[in-house]
Amino acid sequence: MSEKTEGEKLKEELFNSKKNGWELATEEEKQNIFKFCDEYMYFLDRAKTEREAVEFSTDILVKNGFKNIEEVSSLNVGDKVFYINRDKNVYAAVIGKEDLEKGINIVGAHIDSPRLDLKPNPLYEDTGFAYLKTHYYGGIKKYQWTTIPLAIHGVIVKANGEKIKINIGEAETDPIFTITDLLPHLAQEQMDKKLKDGIGGEALNLLIGSIPYNDEKVSEKVKLNILNILNQKYGIKEIDFLSSEIELVPAFRARSLGFDSSMVASYGQDDRVCAYTSLRAILDVEVPEKTAVCILADKEEIGSVGNTGMEANVFDTFVAEMLNKLGQNKANMLDKVFCNSRMLSADVDAALDPIYASVSEKNNASMLGKGIGMCKYTGSRGKSGASDANAEYVAEVRKMLEENNILYQISELGKVDVGGGGTIAYIFANKGIDVIDCGVPVLSMHAPYEVTSKYDVYSAYKTYKAFMK
Ligand code: MN
Ligand code: MN
Repeated sequence: MSEKTEGEKLKEELFNSKKNGWELATEEEKQNIFKFCDEYMYFLDRAKTEREAVEFSTDILVKNGFKNIEEVSSLNVGDKVFYINRDKNVYAAVIGKEDLEKGINIVGAHIDSPRLDLKPNPLYEDTGFAYLKTHYYGGIKKYQWTTIPLAIHGVIVKANGEKIKINIGEAETDPIFTITDLLPHLAQEQMDKKLKDGIGGEALNLLIGSIPYNDEKVSEKVKLNILNILNQKYGIKEIDFLSSEIELVPAFRARSLGFDSSMVASYGQDDRVCAYTSLRAILDVEVPEKTAVCILADKEEIGSVGNTGMEANVFDTFVAEMLNKLGQNKANMLDKVFCNSRMLSADVDAALDPIYASVSEKNNASMLGKGIGMCKYTGSRGKSGASDANAEYVAEVRKMLEENNILYQISELGKVDVGGGGTIAYIFANKGIDVIDCGVPVLSMHAPYEVTSKYDVYSAYKTYKAFMK
């Protein structure tokens, strides 16, 4: 090899050249990445809804020595606690050596994903078929949800309070459900429509049966037969749908993608990829300097609203409860804690897709396989609605990443005029917390099958762990 020229050396020193993580990873690290992602895929298949994610997470937390904060009377350094908000949202914390007043380190992800919910009065019969009517949740491209196998997950709560869990379509022996679409031969009119109008919201009706109840005298025989099956299996009647939360999710499994198995394809990676990696990270925290907190939020996909979304004050109450049980609470203390705190808003990032490269600006797009992705700000157009991380804070996070040899990239969500989006970051910024979006780049975001790089998944885990320590 010939020696490097002055210019080559100078360029190496001064340019910020983005590297491909796979080229940097050692054999040992690659093995760690693949092993971690096998465990991640196991989680994805068992936590397709926010309720299932809460159940799975609580189980892991308890196995790792975390206690329900409502069941402990006082807290000390090194204690591990969690709080479950209405079975749809969890906060976990490891108490650090410093008083909370000096600030806490928060990693916050969300466990709700775009999907189809059932309407309150979903069941009907039409021309020999029984259907369930749906109402989509989050930003979906409706056409993507037809002609794929769907599973039914959720809860039905009877008026007497009895709660029935539903999960059909995941086991190999289970039936699945689907939403039909028009054959191309007769779709001329549909094909002339704009893509967003091709499938209407009221066309997203789930096909669930076709055998009539055997009685000449009754009408709506297929609907009756379905209700009879549901009654025998779950003890429910049609009216019980009124007090239910039932979600339709893709019935396919998380799989390794590519001949090199370098990627993960699965439903719900926005944002269970950051949820799982931050949960795994807090399990590895022993006794941190500052109290470490992991948030698994609900309702991010529809604006963080409601009492399980981050706009609610439940998280503040959790932190106040830690202050109480540590004996550290006094007037204005909660505000002080927040003003001194730091957070990684752990949400996925829109990766550059070479097939649709025109919506991205190459210098400021995150790429699969190039490490954890940070967005200094989100928002749209003239940074409208943006939570913009302070340069000083970005520098702190950079320092942490560089000291821990974690590959990272800082990006924007697409070209300036093209669109935009947001996360839970602004809610924490409003409390006075330093916060930056920091998550895994994803292809086909919000589709029934989303794609991530295993390298980035593992980078997220390493990032959250370093941050909480
Ligand atoms: Mn998200
Ligand atoms: Mn999303």
